[in-house]
Amino acid sequence: MKAEIIAVGTELLLGQIANTNAQFLSQKLAEIGIGVYFHTVVGDNAERLMRTIELAASRSDLIIFSGGLGPTQDDLTKETVASYIGAGLVTDRVAMDRIEAFFHQRGTVMTQNNRKQALVFDRGDVFPNDTGMAPGMAAEHEGRTFVLLPGPPSELYPMVERYVMPYLINLLPERQVFHSHVLRFYGIGESALEERLLDLIEGQDNPTIAPYAKEFEVTLRITARAKTMQEAEELIAPVESEIRNRLGAYIYAEGETSLHEVLVDELAQSGRTIACAESCTGGRTASLITSVPGSSAVMRGGIVCYTNEAKHDLVGIPQEVLDSAGAISEETARLLAENIRQKLGASCGISVTGVAGPDPSEGKPVGLVYIGVAVEGLPTVVKEVRLAGSRHAIVSRAAKFALFYALQ
Ligand code: ATP
Ligand code: MG
Repeated sequence: MKAEIIAVGTELLLGQIANTNAQFLSQKLAEIGIGVYFHTVVGDNAERLMRTIELAASRSDLIIFSGGLGPTQDDLTKETVASYIGAGLVTDRVAMDRIEAFFHQRGTVMTQNNRKQALVFDRGDVFPNDTGMAPGMAAEHEGRTFVLLPGPPSELYPMVERYVMPYLINLLPERQVFHSHVLRFYGIGESALEERLLDLIEGQDNPTIAPYAKEFEVTLRITARAKTMQEAEELIAPVESEIRNRLGAYIYAEGETSLHEVLVDELAQSGRTIACAESCTGGRTASLITSVPGSSAVMRGGIVCYTNEAKHDLVGIPQEVLDSAGAISEETARLLAENIRQKLGASCGISVTGVAGPDPSEGKPVGLVYIGVAVEGLPTVVKEVRLAGSRHAIVSRAAKFALFYALQ
């Protein structure tokens, strides 16, 4: 089945918003093995939308629209698709009740154009809008399936998860289950990861292997389709074990989680505590840790020691070390981690000192970062990492590296 996504909205063409709905829909379709061959964006213009629909119908079996289901004049997706597929428009009672209730609750009078939102095709399926007003809908025409969804992501995402996915799975030739394992990586970039798995990624279509990068981390989703869950697990197992063989050192968790959640969880499980001394990350590491509910059981505290004076006065780094090795050095990172651990009586101390940029510091290059991890009863480990990207990217990556090394 060939799918195409048409996002309708002049604000997309003007660059005022990014087409995140298309990205989301593509990911969801990939999960169930439906290939997306085109993403189209078209403005709020009936004639150009009609030409876009004709083109899509000439090359795709499944055409999914986002946007233009609202009450205003420029919302014309439904009317245009209805005219193309020869469907009439009728009021959906459930949607109309919801809209009326909404206005009643707010004590405002419903304007006439709001009735338009409750109109749906006179055939096909309707997807209730649990978080808004305009329902989604689907209908067939000449062997093609047309699916219409509201533009706001807060409405589209839940509608897709709850109603559209089961609908699409039903369209597939035979009943199948889709099952995924998600592996979470740190310390390896998306392209390096892809390169090391290229033969697997290219050679496989069941399971499919899809890496994606988000918030400076890489995640890999292995998705199998099969008749039963058991069969899907059996398809995933050998592929996952091959990936673990090759890249196991970078895998820090499985499933929906994050470095900070895993770290807090591990510390809590083993009854240990942590403290941070941060320079270039300005408290980002501590902030990630404390963003996890329950972190109060494991987080002792942290110090942002940005200047040399602060490193000396607050964390006890000897002036000689700062003068000779420098603030951005293995030696300073080591002492920061050891001293903060002792000062705050934690089982583990972590430190971050480096150059976030945009200018070099102490003659050291932008992106050079030292991370210290001091654990009670073990020799302190200092890692040197070289990070690329903007100041924001370097700070975010450095904080995550600190969490990653603290996990080791
Ligand atoms: P409404 O009832 O809010 O008018 P609608 O179904 O008519 O909904 P649009 O008017 O096209 O949808 O878009 C409404 C809002 O949804 C946009 O202002 C934008 O914030 C968001 N949106 C629309 N299309 C997309 C998209 N492709 N990706 C991300 N966000 C989008
Ligand atoms: Mg609209």
